[in-house]
Amino acid sequence: MMKVTRSRFVGGLAAAFAASAQPAAAAALSTVDPVAPARGTPAEALAWLRAGNERFRAGGMRRLPAPSAKYPQRPWAVVFCCADTRVATEIVFDSLHFGDLFVCRTAGEVSNPEVVGSIEYAVAEFHAPFVLVLGHSSCGACDAAVATFDGGPIPPASIVSVVNAIAPAVSRVPRDDPERLRKVIEVNAALTAASLATSPILKAALANGTLRVASGYHDLASGRVSIHV
Ligand SMILES: [Zn+2]
Repeated sequence: MMKVTRSRFVGGLAAAFAASAQPAAAAALSTVDPVAPARGTPAEALAWLRAGNERFRAGGMRRLPAPSAKYPQRPWAVVFCCADTRVATEIVFDSLHFGDLFVCRTAGEVSNPEVVGSIEYAVAEFHAPFVLVLGHSSCGACDAAVATFDGGPIPPASIVSVVNAIAPAVSRVPRDDPERLRKVIEVNAALTAASLATSPILKAALANGTLRVASGYHDLASGRVSIHV
């Protein structure tokens, strides 16, 4: 496992600053390049995600970022997941470099037009080959949605929007299911993935085989991410 010492980290920062201070580097900061190929195929992206998660579970091998500012953004995947503090997407997939993942997060990974637009942008401009909607164990937003659905107090302010957005998933799982919360979490992610797949931009990419959209489940205790493809 590679250790990052303070002196090496500071040295890396100094080198990065020196590079960015050069006038030529400033012009190269544009991240959109219609000619550059995608980072990989959906299958390669899936393999990358799974291998990264395996490395993470085995201890990880995170490195200092590569000097990649002159390259266009070409993420392996878009990950839309919960804002929960225990969900740290780049760490869970042992992402080695900045630029690997395009991450959107809201509580309970509830979608809205701005999230959809952000994901559409990553697919259209950065050619992201994989969109993963990731639920996680012990999701407080899903738990709150279940409590509200069962007649609990209505959450205050805009928190009710989060709970309302999860309600369709709650309604699809029987109350007496012994794994009710887990199933609500999984159904919620699956419904969001299905909804994203209807976006005109994602739909076109799905049709020509350059994109795959899937939902997944992140078990916080083991670190394992199951991707349902
Ligand atoms: Zn959550």
